[in-house]
Amino acid sequence: MRPPLLYPLFAEIENLNGIGEKTAKYVRNLAGGKIVDLLWHLPSSVIDRRYSPKLINARIGSIITIKVRVLEHIEPKLKKLPYKIICTDGSADITLSFFHAYPETLKRNLPEGSERVISGKLESFNGGLQMSHPDYVGKPEEMDKIRTVEAVYPLTAGVTNKMINKYIKQALLRVPQMPEWLDERFKSAENLPSFNEALRLVHNPQSEADLLPSFPARKRLAYDEMLANQLALALVREKVKKQQGRIIKGNGLLRKKILEKLPFTLTESQEKVLKEIFADQASPYRMLRLLQGDVGSGKTIVALMSMLNAVECGTQAAIMAPTEILAKQHLETMQPLCEEIGIRAELLTGRVKGKARSKILQDLEAGKIDILIGTHALFVEAVTFKDLACVVVDEQHRFGVHQRLALSDKGNKPDILVMTATPIPRTLVLTAYGDMEYSKIDQPPKGRKPVDTRVLPITKLQEVAAALQRKIAQGCRAYWVCPLVEESEKIDLAAAEERFETLKKIFGEDVGLVHGKMKEKEKDAVMERFKSGEIKILVATTVIEVGVNVPEATVMVIEHAERFGLAQLHQLRGRIKRGFEASTCMLLYSFPLSETARERLNIMRETEDGFLIAEKDLELRGGGEILGTRQSGFCEFRIADMNEHKHLLYTANKDAQMIVAQDEKLATPRGAALRILLYLFERDEAVKTYQQ
Ligand code: ADP
Ligand code: MG
Repeated sequence: MRPPLLYPLFAEIENLNGIGEKTAKYVRNLAGGKIVDLLWHLPSSVIDRRYSPKLINARIGSIITIKVRVLEHIEPKLKKLPYKIICTDGSADITLSFFHAYPETLKRNLPEGSERVISGKLESFNGGLQMSHPDYVGKPEEMDKIRTVEAVYPLTAGVTNKMINKYIKQALLRVPQMPEWLDERFKSAENLPSFNEALRLVHNPQSEADLLPSFPARKRLAYDEMLANQLALALVREKVKKQQGRIIKGNGLLRKKILEKLPFTLTESQEKVLKEIFADQASPYRMLRLLQGDVGSGKTIVALMSMLNAVECGTQAAIMAPTEILAKQHLETMQPLCEEIGIRAELLTGRVKGKARSKILQDLEAGKIDILIGTHALFVEAVTFKDLACVVVDEQHRFGVHQRLALSDKGNKPDILVMTATPIPRTLVLTAYGDMEYSKIDQPPKGRKPVDTRVLPITKLQEVAAALQRKIAQGCRAYWVCPLVEESEKIDLAAAEERFETLKKIFGEDVGLVHGKMKEKEKDAVMERFKSGEIKILVATTVIEVGVNVPEATVMVIEHAERFGLAQLHQLRGRIKRGFEASTCMLLYSFPLSETARERLNIMRETEDGFLIAEKDLELRGGGEILGTRQSGFCEFRIADMNEHKHLLYTANKDAQMIVAQDEKLATPRGAALRILLYLFERDEAVKTYQQ
């Protein structure tokens, strides 16, 4: 349960003064719907209103705050002309001009003969001084209130800076006095303010320097957020680690047989990872391990080996893929191997229906199926195993900590191995997978030929087509990727269809088209024709990213490559690295080309190292996007900047581990404060899990 101390912060923003239903909607989109969300909405720049020169000396173009006397109102002769008010500060005159003005209001606020404070940008117009639409108009005694440094927040339509400032000021007033959850020595060594003080400081910046990630108040809040994240994961990890598991330690016979059947030997990297997995399986605790390996690094065989370990012990194993296509692909690689060594692997997806389905369900419950291959959806359904001891989740970077927790509650405490093909930088592994042990295949199988990657402008389409023609003549197959941007799916689809038509004019019946709007069956049919070689060029919107395995496909053309992220480009290119043939990737770009896009394309040309690409990706854009997951929640920081505060994350990680080691129940005074921290940053699932 949320500590009562925090109730005021978790109230809806409608509770603030001056926020109507319509405005609330905009603010909700901008920052979030709760008062606490406003606290995390940090200023992005400042306006310094402290410059109060005599008008005669004032710099044109600067923001000035001055006292003036109102001389005269001049109503416009034409509606489209501005309403003018002439003022003076004694040294010079200034014209305040207002378009679409309400004369009544202006007369009330700036009556002739009165003294007023005005603040805004000084301009020159027709040889005179002017200020159009002053930001502030106030009584003389309000000078000090107006003459400050003003925080400027990221805004959206319907919310002005004045409004958001007003809401945030109110939100700040509702922040209760928080207990200190930081280690005192760390806090003073880093020179960090208290949480309350930090909030006050970040929302009242005095200069641009106060906006930097290194500003102690910002650092403090970033650290708080990262500590909440790391502590939550550490608590979950502790829970899973303590769960009684079972000792899975097979006799090795099936594994030996499989290795004899393979046309290759395992790489050192695969061996090392398997050793780690087998050790986990043999321990009396649950396994929760992340297996990371680039596309084509050979994760499938590693997964199969760990499942065989379970089968050798007379138990069952399951592997879950994110899509039907991938599940089928796993079946195609695994089933023949399993048959050869005399065990049974079956496929269960939403499309296995009727009698076939009930037969599989029956056999599964009777223990006649050793390895079940399916989609993630399987875990939602009522599927009963006789004795499930090993689950492999092929994650395709879309699986959050909540789902992993749900999974670990399933069945008879099976070991869980999560595989991901997205190379994830270490910082992100910590923030998103800090609850898991971690293995990495960091070396591709020997003999892989590098991909010849070229970057070309779309204007060279003729040359690209000619090159493609030569490749096809040599018997190669090619993907032609057209990007699909969600916002304009229709337009993009039209572009793909148009490209399909132009290519058909050159290549005739050799070209096929597959896109997201097609029915599963139609998609499969086209894919089959591509696999069998009936179609040589497959024009596709990015549906192929999800993963098809056509070893003969060694050419990839990516149109509008500048629109893709690095991770996506890397994944796509991975599709043609399946075989041992030399392959070619042509990245076609169109202008305008942003600096970042240019950088991305260069990186793609220079390296195939997924981890290096992932690090660069993290530098070029934030962390959340790499994992592609708002759902996963745990990798999203509101305040912390994954690049700027990297070092803090490592400290938070150590801090969290120490806390869990010393005060796992969060029972000490610092523990109680940390509990508030977890709720404050909405990482409370961990506390809940732990209390069960
Ligand atoms: P991924 O990690 O993308 O799942 P796969 O497991 O599909 O990669 O492996 C890619 C290809 O490499 C497959 O054709 C597989 O048979 C092959 N492979 C796996 N391990 C090795 C190895 N040690 N030596 C040579 N080829 C291997
Ligand atoms: Mg795979």
